[in-house]
Amino acid sequence: MLTRKKPLVSRTPLKRSAPIGVRPSPGSSLTRTKVRVKSPVAAHPKHWAAKRRPSPTAIERRYMGYVAALCCAVCRRLGIEGTPAIVHHQRTGTGKMRASHYRTCPLCPLHHQGSGFGVHDMGRSQFADLYGFSEVDLVEETRGLLVEYLPAEERT
Ligand SMILES: [Zn+2]
Ligand SMILES: [Zn+2]
Repeated sequence: MLTRKKPLVSRTPLKRSAPIGVRPSPGSSLTRTKVRVKSPVAAHPKHWAAKRRPSPTAIERRYMGYVAALCCAVCRRLGIEGTPAIVHHQRTGTGKMRASHYRTCPLCPLHHQGSGFGVHDMGRSQFADLYGFSEVDLVEETRGLLVEYLPAEERT
C-alpha cells in the first residue's frame, strides 16, 4: 500500500487560477509515485558547451559587421529602411550546434526578441505565417547581398 507523508493537495489557497489545461488531472497525483527532479546533466557545464559557438575570427567579425550594416531585414521587407540592427544567428536546422557566423541576418531589437513578434518570440511556422517569409529566407537574402564577402566554401 502506498503511504504518503505529505498531503496530496496543498493547503495553501491558490492565489490565481491556472489555465485548465495546465492543471493536473485529479487522478494523476494519486498514481504518481516519484517526483521529477531536475536532471544533473542539464546543469552540467558540458551541456552548455554544445550550445556554444566558437568566437568569430576577424574575417567573420568583418562579415557580421556588414550584416548589421544592412539594417533590419524584416523592417526592410515591411518597407522601412535603415532600422539599426544586431546580428541574429539562424536557428532553423542547426540542431544542437549553433549556426555559423555566415548563417546570420540583421534584425532590429523588436524583430529579434522580447517584443512578442520577434524571431525568438515565436515558432518557425508562426513567424512565417505572420510575415510571409521565414528566418531562412532572411538569412539567404543576407548571404546573397553579401556574397562577395562570403568565403569560397560558403558560396554554394
Ligand atoms: Zn525590424
Ligand atoms: Zn537571435
